[in-house]
Amino acid sequence: MKGFAMLKIGATGWIEKEIPACGPLDAICKPLALAPCTSDVHTVWAGAIGDRRDMILGHEAVGEVVEVGALVKDFKPGDKVLISAITPDWNAYASQEGYSMHSGGMLAGWKFSNFKDGVFAEYFHVNDADGNLAHLPENMDLGAACMIADMVPTGFHGVELADIQYGDNVAVIGIGPVGLMSVAAAAIRGAANIYAVGSRKNCADLALEFGATHIVNYRGGDIVEQILDLNHGPVDKIVVAGGNNDTFDQAIRMLKAGGKIGNVNYLGDGDYVKIPRVEWGCGMGHKQILGGLMPGGRLRSEKLARLVMTGRIHPERLITHTFRGLENVEPALMLMKDKPRDLIKPLVLMD
Ligand code: NDP
Ligand code: ZN
Repeated sequence: MKGFAMLKIGATGWIEKEIPACGPLDAICKPLALAPCTSDVHTVWAGAIGDRRDMILGHEAVGEVVEVGALVKDFKPGDKVLISAITPDWNAYASQEGYSMHSGGMLAGWKFSNFKDGVFAEYFHVNDADGNLAHLPENMDLGAACMIADMVPTGFHGVELADIQYGDNVAVIGIGPVGLMSVAAAAIRGAANIYAVGSRKNCADLALEFGATHIVNYRGGDIVEQILDLNHGPVDKIVVAGGNNDTFDQAIRMLKAGGKIGNVNYLGDGDYVKIPRVEWGCGMGHKQILGGLMPGGRLRSEKLARLVMTGRIHPERLITHTFRGLENVEPALMLMKDKPRDLIKPLVLMD
């Protein structure tokens, strides 16, 4: 089979590999739709997970099952499926403790294009199929379905980590596809004011559509001042879905005592994160920071699919560029790398 791979840090290309073998609990799928992710860009061009040689990229897919292992109960060849980007081992200790994304070691629930070949191929392997696949609802838009792999669960996880409750005033820092889904999740949770921080116009427009009440442009001045001013004081909760290491400094400064920060952003630079001592209450301000890899799994995919099918969220609105054919994962990934200002998320539909 052919797949689009990271050849080494900074280099990509098409390679030939054997179709993966199917263990007793596993499934082999072929893609129906694929999407490149900012994380693929970090993996290849920032060396975010270290060197990988000839590893097929991609972790966002909707697929069709072509083979299942002897112990798989609920899926069979021909089934169309949602597939989590994170595919934990559900019987691991970490999973039993509620941290399935860290089953096998910190962040090790992230297997596609990390510890094994990813989904940008004619076929790919899914471990623990009964726990990590979900049936694709009939008539579900394939773009929305593909966003359930990663963008929706990650954006929603930021809101879970920040523990957003009804009536909270909330800042969402970063409104790329992930942060936009955090805005949608904050609105569903009943947030009051939602300050969405970004600079691209189409992202700002979509943020307002998804429930943001204010747009804050970080290129137009200090976001701390802007948000403290708009909110007449510190906010209750903050989701970090973009920015850089300085973002925590800013977040602590605009957060009330007892407030919570949920981070889903990948921190790619530097050795330390700076926390401003006085604004953190000299260590006694009860300002919590939780950062997390999204949880994967079937139950979560099914619940998020329900939100799509009942019209409560519209993740297909993230897709600004649509390609056709597996060969077009390459230009789609390059688009993600170059990030033209009209891009939110590309989608590749199979022929
Ligand atoms: P994008 O690059 O599309 O979006 C980043 C957002 O951050 C944009 O709105 C951008 O603004 C904004 N931003 C950039 N610099 C600043 C700044 N200095 N201050 C405030 N805002 C800023 O990324 P994605 O939405 O695709 O992904 C977001 C992050 O989530 C990435 O780091 C990704 O790796 C990570 N991720 C994490 C996962 C997890 O499980 N935890 C899973 C998937 C992704 P604009 O472009 O408008 O100028
Ligand atoms: Zn992703």
